[in-house]
Amino acid sequence: MNKAIWGASVLMLGALGIASCNEAEFLDAFESGSGITATMLTGAGDDHANWITHGRTYSEQRFSPLDAISTENVGELGLAWSADMDTARGQEATPLVIDGKLYLTTAWSKVKAFDAATGEALWDYDPEVPGETAVRACCDVVNRGLATWGTSLFLGTLDGRLVSLDRDTGAVQWEVQTTDPDQSYTVTGAPRVIDGKIIIGNGGAEFGVRGYVAAYDVDNGEELWRFYTVPDGNEGGEAPEYLQAAAETWNTEVLAGSDAIGGGGTVWDSMAYDADLDLLYIGVGNGSPWNRAYRSPGEDGTGEGDNLYLSSIVAVRPSTGEYVWHYQTTPGETWDYTATQHIMLADMEIDGEQRQVLMQAPKNGFFYVIDRATGEFISAEPYVAVNWATGIGEDGRPIENPETRIDKTGKPAIVTPGALGGHNWHPMAYHPDENLVFIPAFEAAMVYAPEENWKPDRARGFNVGFNLGAGDLPPDLGIRREVAGTLRGMLVAWDPVAQEPRWTVEHPGPWNGGLLATGGGLVFQGTAGSEFNAYDASNGEKLWSFGAQTGVVAPPITYTVDGEQYVAVLAGWGGAYAITVDGGLLNDKAPVRNVSRLLVFKLGGTGELPPEKELAALPLDPPPSRASPEDIALGGEKYARYCAVCHAPAAVGSTVLPDLRRSGTLGNASSWAAVVHDGILKDNGMVGFGESMSREEIEAIRAYVIQRANEDKAMEPAE
Ligand code: CA
Repeated sequence: MNKAIWGASVLMLGALGIASCNEAEFLDAFESGSGITATMLTGAGDDHANWITHGRTYSEQRFSPLDAISTENVGELGLAWSADMDTARGQEATPLVIDGKLYLTTAWSKVKAFDAATGEALWDYDPEVPGETAVRACCDVVNRGLATWGTSLFLGTLDGRLVSLDRDTGAVQWEVQTTDPDQSYTVTGAPRVIDGKIIIGNGGAEFGVRGYVAAYDVDNGEELWRFYTVPDGNEGGEAPEYLQAAAETWNTEVLAGSDAIGGGGTVWDSMAYDADLDLLYIGVGNGSPWNRAYRSPGEDGTGEGDNLYLSSIVAVRPSTGEYVWHYQTTPGETWDYTATQHIMLADMEIDGEQRQVLMQAPKNGFFYVIDRATGEFISAEPYVAVNWATGIGEDGRPIENPETRIDKTGKPAIVTPGALGGHNWHPMAYHPDENLVFIPAFEAAMVYAPEENWKPDRARGFNVGFNLGAGDLPPDLGIRREVAGTLRGMLVAWDPVAQEPRWTVEHPGPWNGGLLATGGGLVFQGTAGSEFNAYDASNGEKLWSFGAQTGVVAPPITYTVDGEQYVAVLAGWGGAYAITVDGGLLNDKAPVRNVSRLLVFKLGGTGELPPEKELAALPLDPPPSRASPEDIALGGEKYARYCAVCHAPAAVGSTVLPDLRRSGTLGNASSWAAVVHDGILKDNGMVGFGESMSREEIEAIRAYVIQRANEDKAMEPAE
């Protein structure tokens, strides 16, 4: 089929307001083996049985009209089947369901196919991502899903490949490298397919890359266009016009030359598409380094400029990669306030006028409603506690609190939201009957402290330009409990017209799962508290709960096979919060465990999970701390820059990655050096840091971790 004709017919159908697809067309396509087409993707909302694109439809509403499971009978929901995964790391994927088969990705970019009704395993694909790639991933070795076209599936791998798989067999059809393997790019997001083009972004802003999104031909992986989100400082008048305009908002000196910083602006998760307007919306990430004073220095040594298109929503023509409009949520971004969070499209009446809107709850804590045809700002209000700005002015620009902008020197500040945001990648959902957007929100403030003579190190470690160790908590259980008490997690049902919550469910802590809303009047969400819950969409009443044995962060989906409705969610604790904050914040808190497992439910399901394994209690048993205070301080500084992002600030231990206070190498300088300097465990993801640190510095980190372990041992409750 000629793609241009498909595209034209989609536009025409859209213009006439005719539903472009229906369930019969889906059945015909599956019967004839023709696979997924442009009209099926555009009309995905009219088919209720399948889930063929990341957010269910191009509008990314994650609302399914299915209503067999409802507020009336959700109490009868039970486990239909489950499948254990072979990666005990964060599971963030949205499965796809196509013609009775369920396809999902797991940590380490693996793909698995199941019979969606019975759970029979059909095939597996492992792209064999090298273990050492893990050190380039800011936020765990996660993957958030697949795209489909024809009879193919498309996967982005952690090491930056785009892989085309045969949907029936899992066989590789082609693969291409979408990133420069010499730079610290990673791919964790789900690609999208628009009219025969696979759109895929990447991550790595913490490691010094320059962000872009690119389009590839579904048939052979040929790159068709590439859209950079920040200027490169070298191109000048050769650059496309939109990048020349962006260059005026930067001090671009630092972006040019061989030791240039990448600038960031990675497009690592959200996209949406409006077929009528033929606009692709991309969510752009934070600056690299975080601290604008280093990234775009002004004459006075502090930062300058809005630094477009950081923290922006950008509308791009998907056929050509041409810039159309942008809206920047956080001008001059410096707090890791990405606008990569879920972009959702809906139509609603605002001030008596029917509007085509785009909605986002980016990390910066404000919920935005934007006109998606023009990019015009409509409204924004805070959906969590915010102190970096007192509001968003009518011109769409934040009214900043100057106390929270930290440069190279000066006082630190506690800023909320912190770098994890008021909402992270976890998908929201929309209920059209209620006109509510459900936000998996949380509150976790962060200390931003200056780092005076920061230098980039693009080979290894976090390149943020702040002193990340400055916010480490002292070894005092009372203080830690107090800080832990300020962490909040909640499910917020947000009215986008009134710009206020209609109801809120409080969770025990941050980092709860993504969301699904259904025609049965339900909202489904997994929690950090190892539950999978169903709530009444109209008032937030908890109607059903399932003990998941693990923290759940991924969003659920729903589908039918032979007319029977199922709800599926990939359980498995992990991701940025799990590896950096959660672990040992409190010595006396039971850690959230990772049990990576797909859970599938139906009415009357009688399945049971295997019994939970007992977690062995491991008391801390470090060697005595004998190093000099100077060595321990040096080790602490290096730890904050190179280790904390995976092994948790202050070495308090993450729940997903090894707790260094309990490391078997802690008592032995040469085995410590073999791991941390020489990289003998690189295939597990622990590379050597010999290029970035001297042997003395690496030994100082050992001294620091020994000291920290002894401090925490002293805090352990007596037997
Ligand atoms: Ca970031």
